[in-house]
Amino acid sequence: MVSLPDWCPAYNPQKKDAETGEEVFCICKKPDSGELMVGCDGCDDWFHFSCLKMPTKYNELVFSFYCPYCQAGVTGPGATDGNLPKTLWRRKCRVSDCFKPVAENSKYCSEGHAISYLRGLVDRVEVPGHEATPVLREMLREPDFDHFKGVGQNGLPTPSEQLAPGLFSNDAQLQELESQLQKVRGGAKRRVETQLEQLAQYSKWVHAVNELLFGDGNQEHAESTSGSRSKASRAQKRKKAVKKKAICGYSASLVVPCPAEQFVSEFKELEDEPTELRGVCCKLRCTRHLDWAGTQENGLQFQLESLESSEERLQLLVKIREDQLKLQFYKKLTQIDTTSIKIPLKNES
Ligand SMILES: [Zn+2]
Ligand SMILES: [Zn+2]
Ligand SMILES: [Zn+2]
Ligand SMILES: [Zn+2]
Repeated sequence: MVSLPDWCPAYNPQKKDAETGEEVFCICKKPDSGELMVGCDGCDDWFHFSCLKMPTKYNELVFSFYCPYCQAGVTGPGATDGNLPKTLWRRKCRVSDCFKPVAENSKYCSEGHAISYLRGLVDRVEVPGHEATPVLREMLREPDFDHFKGVGQNGLPTPSEQLAPGLFSNDAQLQELESQLQKVRGGAKRRVETQLEQLAQYSKWVHAVNELLFGDGNQEHAESTSGSRSKASRAQKRKKAVKKKAICGYSASLVVPCPAEQFVSEFKELEDEPTELRGVCCKLRCTRHLDWAGTQENGLQFQLESLESSEERLQLLVKIREDQLKLQFYKKLTQIDTTSIKIPLKNES
């Protein structure tokens, strides 16, 4: 059971102003004054951004909105099946002060913002003794994003190892960049990905434990033995569903301690309902670890995103360095070629 935020008044089913008869909306029960509102997908009421303490600049980022009453299961789908809905947001454009949603298959709202984000990335790039910035700036002067994406791909062909032995492997800068990239990819990123996976596994386990302890299966069984299918019992069931019991399930280690069945039988063996078992918080209305799974996941996702952005940056630098080396090699090659052509010509004359 999610409680209403402290700024939100208790639910009021009023739809019309008692005096004027005008239609009223939102938690404030005021008529539409033209102020920006968002429609709830659960109860079809409309809500002011300001009343919900949501910045109006998030307007375009709302994917599906549920009002505080629907999120708490007072109204909407949660009131009937106990599955409390949450507001879902579209992914925001990576440009920090842009609040538009991303375009399909992109991390940016538009090509313009993709370029300005990457420009910003280039400005932040600092590798000692590395001249990536001017080179990349030069490339970015071309205002064509496809050209930019193609950096290093449709550039110069890589000369064979026979033709240019050690061209890449003997370059200290490139090796340094490669090893940094490996560190991000193999180490840090994999660690966060593993933690995310572990969190998902653990959350699944907590869910299984709660299903075994308080799940619908048990409840329906209890009701079918009483044999009643009356309206009253349905209403009762609905009430039960809203206040569905669940243990908090938080554990500092996030490691599944034992199979769910075993945990449940140990839990039931204890005389009083325990507040903790095998390091797992078993409180039924735990305020201390409120939404622990969501909080942990957000933190890990944030780490992953910042690692991905370093990975992207390093990948770019590797490509640029490779292009520089190739360019140097081909320049040298053409110089040698012209000299070797010139010599026989001189001899002839
Ligand atoms: Zn309002
Ligand atoms: Zn609603
Ligand atoms: Zn944008
Ligand atoms: Zn807890």
